[in-house]
Amino acid sequence: DRHPAPQQQPDPNKKTLVVLGTGWGSVSLLKKLDTENYNVIVISPRNFFLFTPLLPSCTTGTIEHRSIMEPIRAILSRKKTSVQFFEAEASSIDPDRKVVKIFDDSEIKGKISETEVPYDMLVVGVGSETATFGIQGVNEHSCFLKEIGDAQRIRKKIMDCVETAAFKDQSPEEIDRLLHMVVVGGGPTGVEFAAELQDFFEEDIKNLIPEFSHHFHVTLIEALPNVLPSFSKQLIEYTESTLKEQTIDIKTKTVVKKVTDRTVEAQCSLPSGSKETIVLTYGLLVWAAGNAVRPLVKDLMSKIPAQKDSRRGLAVNEYLVVQGTRDVWALGDCAVAGYAPTAQVAAQEGAFLAKLFNNMAKTESVEEEIQNLSSSLNVKPGVNAAETSQTIEQLEQQLKRVRDAKPFHYSHQGSLAYIGSEKAVADVSWWNGNIAAGGKLTYLFWRSAYLSMCFSTRNRFLVINDWLKSKTFGRDVSRE
Ligand code: FAD
Ligand code: NAD
Repeated sequence: DRHPAPQQQPDPNKKTLVVLGTGWGSVSLLKKLDTENYNVIVISPRNFFLFTPLLPSCTTGTIEHRSIMEPIRAILSRKKTSVQFFEAEASSIDPDRKVVKIFDDSEIKGKISETEVPYDMLVVGVGSETATFGIQGVNEHSCFLKEIGDAQRIRKKIMDCVETAAFKDQSPEEIDRLLHMVVVGGGPTGVEFAAELQDFFEEDIKNLIPEFSHHFHVTLIEALPNVLPSFSKQLIEYTESTLKEQTIDIKTKTVVKKVTDRTVEAQCSLPSGSKETIVLTYGLLVWAAGNAVRPLVKDLMSKIPAQKDSRRGLAVNEYLVVQGTRDVWALGDCAVAGYAPTAQVAAQEGAFLAKLFNNMAKTESVEEEIQNLSSSLNVKPGVNAAETSQTIEQLEQQLKRVRDAKPFHYSHQGSLAYIGSEKAVADVSWWNGNIAAGGKLTYLFWRSAYLSMCFSTRNRFLVINDWLKSKTFGRDVSRE
């Protein structure tokens, strides 16, 4: 149903539930939440949901960026009761006054671009930012891969490097530098991006500019002894050998220490135990070194004494309540609940909170009903006392069931990653065991799994269309 409920004034009899963010956690919560129970307000600088698993494919044009975006207004329009959305960034949360400060960070600003939003209940689902560890030059010179804008920037830069390398009279050394693409971080983001990049070169750029065949080069740098550390040993070995076959240079046990506009300085641990410093020149540098806590979350943590020992985000209890607060919940990458920062975890946490909030609203209405019935039993002589007492008993049982809400339990479905040349790896939970698989069949599984997880039928249609288009006509190499 695409007809949004008409905008209503906040109902003074309902609690105001403010949800920060429109990512995996918050959107999963909003999908399942019975919005008629609360005055719901959603605040996010991004007025769309982003299907991050296919973001690496947008950097090369295998998939067009709009195919993996779903407008939040379309999502909210399917809710029974209207939900307010403010495109704004939350700059601070005051848990004592129960208000969130927000500001409009977009290009066009109205007379009011900063204000406060009071809440009765708050859900923090603002995700994380990319970790730079304060390493010199990273912010200034590298591209991250977190948001749509990052993928667009990378796509533009790849083609800028290629066209600059093709500039008249460019020296072979400069062509080598411009076509050297360095990826820092051998987690799933770095591996999937490196794989997409090599595919782009092999399947498109090489055919269009054959003289670049021996110049294009991808290097993947990882501090740990292997890439994809969260996968099983067998799949790590398969991934590393597949990447090497594709001529991707993997430098493990290598820690980047400094970045300039043209060079990456790193320290490698040699088998002898000694350390060696290497300097690589590059044309494009993509930094995928993991997650860091957002300033908003750091600021909130500093206001709550119970959070003083938490480093990776807001420590939450088994009901996702932020430790040391009342009426504040956190989910996804910004919450520390003992799970990996993945979309899978965030989505399950969102669904859990929706159920919890639906139950809380039900509890309140049942409590109210019991109270009304009990008072009618005492004061109204005409009521059928036996019948009313029975109803109260039934309601109390219902209340007990609702109150016995189980704590959050994460169910791991498995991990998937694309590793290039139409191959993927999968560590999938199956019955009570685990299946580890890699190769072309796994790639088909990877595609169908992500397709089924896409947000909407529209997204699914667009993604299939993009896959067919790039396979049939090649990726679009125009630099926008
Ligand atoms: P996000 O989805 O990042 O959403 C955060 C939201 O908060 C955004 O809407 C943002 O705009 C908003 N926000 C930010 N700051 C503020 C603020 N100050 N005020 C209000 N709102 C704010 N996980 C998997 O399980 N499988 C995968 O295949 C996978 N692939 C990935 C590929 C890439 C390239 C990346 C980067 C991540 C991938 N992940 C994957 C991880 C997954 O995307 C994250 O774990 C997930 O997005 C976390 O969900 P979230 O809701 O916590 O945050
Ligand atoms: P990550 O934390 O998984 O990996 C980052 C890697 O960068 C680490 O292995 C780390 O050792 C390395 N690193 C950090 N600093 C470095 C330095 N200075 N020099 C060299 N290497 C350095 O980060 P990610 O890949 O962005 O993933 C973030 C989260 O998102 C993870 O939970 C991941 O599982 C999830 N994710 C999942 C998928 C998937 O399932 N296909 C895809 C992308 C992301």
